[in-house]
Amino acid sequence: MVDGLLQSLGVAASAYTDGDHPVHTPIDGSRIASVTLENKAQVLAKIDVAQKAFLAWRDVPAPRRGELVRLFGEVLREHKAQLGELVSIEAGKITQEGLGEVQEMIDICDFAVGLSRQLYGLTIASERPGHHMRETWHPLGVVGVISAFNFPVAVWAWNTALALVCGDAVLWKPSEKTPLTALACQALFEKALKQFGEAPEGLCQLVLGDREAGEALVDDPRVPLVSATGSTRMGREVGPRVAARFGRSILELGGNNAMILAPSADLDLAVRGILFSAVGTAGQRCTTLRRVIVHASIKDEVVARVKAAYGKVRIGDPRKDNLVGPLIDKASFDAMQGALAKARDEGGQVFGGERQLADQYPNAYYVSPAIAEMPVQSEVVRHETFAPILYVLAYDDFEEALRLNNEVPQGLSSCIFTTDLREAERFQSASGSDCGIANVNIGTSGAEIGGAFGGEKETGGGRESGSDAWKAYMRRQTNTVNYSRELPLAQGIVFD
Ligand code: NAD
Repeated sequence: MVDGLLQSLGVAASAYTDGDHPVHTPIDGSRIASVTLENKAQVLAKIDVAQKAFLAWRDVPAPRRGELVRLFGEVLREHKAQLGELVSIEAGKITQEGLGEVQEMIDICDFAVGLSRQLYGLTIASERPGHHMRETWHPLGVVGVISAFNFPVAVWAWNTALALVCGDAVLWKPSEKTPLTALACQALFEKALKQFGEAPEGLCQLVLGDREAGEALVDDPRVPLVSATGSTRMGREVGPRVAARFGRSILELGGNNAMILAPSADLDLAVRGILFSAVGTAGQRCTTLRRVIVHASIKDEVVARVKAAYGKVRIGDPRKDNLVGPLIDKASFDAMQGALAKARDEGGQVFGGERQLADQYPNAYYVSPAIAEMPVQSEVVRHETFAPILYVLAYDDFEEALRLNNEVPQGLSSCIFTTDLREAERFQSASGSDCGIANVNIGTSGAEIGGAFGGEKETGGGRESGSDAWKAYMRRQTNTVNYSRELPLAQGIVFD
């Protein structure tokens, strides 16, 4: 299924046929490749190489570093169709979303190229005569990237494009569920490197491994920044370990994203927004819409319309004309069924959520998306189940809706559908949504790369991608220069 694709992307056959770690496609559950996982000693050796690469790369002028990222963006454009298809096969996304993920890689490359000429510092007024101050940004070191299965290529690109223009080296440990897309990205990057010419060896390396490999990156003081994307459980382990050695981390963890649906909303837009955000990627996005907090006066109508839309959703092979592909594996299916059982126990009314196409694909897990009308925001609603379950809660007054939006442990994405300006502005105000992302009249998922991406509370607080997220990949330096013939002290201190 993947031989031709991997070869067209420049991956040597030995990299995906000789190993003992099986790779399965969620499309039909079959084994499509086998790779070799690396142990701790191999990871440490790669960190060593990365550290040397960093020492050379940091002295390359930033706009020249941007040229490498520009070339990589060009290579991605050439191979968008193949890489998008491989994402579909390995992660189970529909083709449109696989292509969208690669487009996101291209977009962040474009962003980073521009950024390579804009790593601006500050000039600061000094209180002392004949002095000036400035703030400068310098390359940081080796960046360890740990990524999740559901965005197998874009998350790496978000980090790598920025890290490279910032003058850092990168070591990437992808999810053990998606090593093939990682091998393909590495091969494409090497193609760009060849065109670029003189980049240091090991500037951007891949480590295929499980948790042990991830832990080697997490614990090594030669990796000043660990950017880790995955579950809150993972972040709870990684965050304190990196902090214990005074490293920095960017944590991009689980979400539990809500939409407030107000009585004035354009319901046609809202239902379309719900559909894409709740069932896209089979509910396996960190920004997937998991809760609709709808005004009691329109709840029945909204639920009826969403159920009707769900009834028409085509489920099946993500490479064909379908809207919902498979869940990643059986564990994911079991977690979904467990959550639906719990929702019923907690007084919920569940619609959908059944396994689909089991005869055709006995080893794959397709489901119909589920809606669970809940009496209150109970325990199961407060938990992120990584599957297409949409909990529906009713509200009577706007303050209650805001409270429900915020009363979960996670804080990634949120949105409101309303045509009431006061509600929209309040939702995005200091006392509104407490999430990293707060949208008006669009759903919770599908962010663009121009904005900083990430969330608060158990989502980890990290920011990646646009805005000034690049600053996390650099070290800040404050400079004071005295060009006078005196040595005045700050705060007027006399020390003669
Ligand atoms: P996961 O936590 O199981 O694994 C993520 C990565 O962490 C994998 O590469 C894994 O090998 C590694 N890992 C796990 N434990 C580790 C440890 N102790 N030390 C070092 N590395 C470790 O997550 P998953 O199932 O692949 O992905 C789904 C989760 O990721 C969901 O919770 C989703 O919300 C989250 N996610 C968040 C974002 C975001 O930007 N906030 C984006 C995508 C996915």
